[in-house]
Amino acid sequence: MSTTKSSMKKKLCPQCKIGRFRVLNANGDAIVVEVNELFEIVPVNSGQSLEGYNLDVLHCLGCSWKGMAKKLVKH
Ligand SMILES: [Zn+2]
Repeated sequence: MSTTKSSMKKKLCPQCKIGRFRVLNANGDAIVVEVNELFEIVPVNSGQSLEGYNLDVLHCLGCSWKGMAKKLVKH
């Protein structure tokens, strides 16, 4: 068994403590991502490309929080 990135603990929203976020591109399209312990932004559906998406602003799926990945919390 290998340790994969997806098995890492996820960073969570500082308000509602869920670990899923949307990122948007210039067309307003959104994809759902998670953020791992290394603050890497990873698409939930592997195979999706983050190219063209604004990774500076994450939009929480659970509440109205939005902000940078660095603002996320561990617990
Ligand atoms: Zn939230």
